[in-house]
Amino acid sequence: MVSAYVDHAAGGTLTDVDGREWIDFASGIAVTSVGNSAPRVVEAVRAQVERFTHTCFMVAPYESYVAVCEQLIALTPGSFEKRAALFNSGAEAVENAVKIARHATGRPAVVVFDHAYHGRTNLTMALTAKNMPYKHRFGPFAPEVYRAPMSYPLRDGGLSGAEAARRAIDVIEKQVGGSNVAAVLIEPIQGEGGFVVPAPGFLPAIAAWARANGAVFVADEIQTGFARTGQWFASEHEAVEPDLITTAKGMGGGLPIAGVAGRAELMDAVHAGGLGGTYGGNPVACAAALAAVETIRELDLCAAAQRIETAIRGALSDLDPGVAELRGRGAMMAIELVLPGGTEPDPTRTAAVSKTCHDAGLLTLTCGTYGNVLRFLPPLVISDEHLGRGLGILRDALRT
Ligand SMILES: *Cc1c(COP(=O)(O)O)cnc(C)c1O
Repeated sequence: MVSAYVDHAAGGTLTDVDGREWIDFASGIAVTSVGNSAPRVVEAVRAQVERFTHTCFMVAPYESYVAVCEQLIALTPGSFEKRAALFNSGAEAVENAVKIARHATGRPAVVVFDHAYHGRTNLTMALTAKNMPYKHRFGPFAPEVYRAPMSYPLRDGGLSGAEAARRAIDVIEKQVGGSNVAAVLIEPIQGEGGFVVPAPGFLPAIAAWARANGAVFVADEIQTGFARTGQWFASEHEAVEPDLITTAKGMGGGLPIAGVAGRAELMDAVHAGGLGGTYGGNPVACAAALAAVETIRELDLCAAAQRIETAIRGALSDLDPGVAELRGRGAMMAIELVLPGGTEPDPTRTAAVSKTCHDAGLLTLTCGTYGNVLRFLPPLVISDEHLGRGLGILRDALRT
């Protein structure tokens, strides 16, 4: 966290009220992928605020809501017929995906994974794995949520994707029963849980099992979506076509907006008025989202994310034995810190490195079930100079 209040920010830096500048490897948690106050976003928001700020889409509709839905339908993987709906936050999108899956299947159970993070509302706390700080003393939690083991190559003895999927499916079949499962919900790369990239083959195998058992496969792409990992959506890296996808964060260029997109027959199953909300798809946020999508396209930010991955891998390739792994995709990269000689997590060093970076003018975030993962989420528009300087600070911090 920046220790002083922010005055202004751009595509790769934050400046506080005293004029001190930080290089931004956080993007407000993967939100400002197109940069802070990105020119097209600013212009679109200004123009929309002057026209109208709110009607509630269900009371008096407007074209930009439909346009954002059309973009979601076009950009998300899956060649089948789709529908989309808009909400305000990631947690709200996840809640709605579960509502849709339960309604469409008539089944109760939702399967989630170890290390998962899906939000902080009551249902999404139940879906989230980690107690502190997300769940502790906030229960009781929503029922019919079941947790399966995740593919976590560093910590599961190097199971292959197929083996890890078999292990998860065994748990689901024994403890829940395939015919009771409404939805299998998973982050294609886990975010708050530690930037865990499952072994190749894991996601396709879980998706195939869901399909074969009549369960809805939901990809939570709230952190991974909108070019962050070098593709529009991370599911594309393994050619997975989720039945439903939840999006938020990078979608709105800094304004709060979220969405659910997916199979028309699932989305259409819900009765009219069953989904919605006062502010969902607010016109100012829709204008920002359309401008963010345009920016990602015009600046080819998928390619930019891939270049950022190459730069991070280059700068962090030769680290000490306390760095167990450098992993991630695109501009969603992390290192996991352990005590040398094993895989015992080292949250103390992780916090110390993060603080050293901060003191030297680089904003990084930690994450992970064990608090021992340092993650890098620069804006996709960050300049080579800021990226290089940030990586230099990081290397120095890891050496001290
Ligand atoms: C951030 C996040 C959420 C929750 O989004 P909010 O907008 O904070 O409610 C859900 N799932 C994932 C994967 C996230 O990274």
